[in-house]
Amino acid sequence: MPKTVACPTCNTEVAWQPENKFRPFCSERCKLIDLGAWATEAYRVPVKEEPDPGESSSSGQGPG
Ligand SMILES: [Zn+2]
Repeated sequence: MPKTVACPTCNTEVAWQPENKFRPFCSERCKLIDLGAWATEAYRVPVKEEPDPGESSSSGQGPG
């Protein structure tokens, strides 16, 4: 009896086998949905810019 897992996106039972390349997702759609959430905001990683240690000139920030 093959092991089954729940699709992280829709909680559908998915057979955990090499044939299913979308595992642990039930389908490519659910996989894309999860990846989309990953890229949008669910797991957004804070990005901060650090100034170059050598550069000593200040750049003005104007409108536009
Ligand atoms: Zn699913």
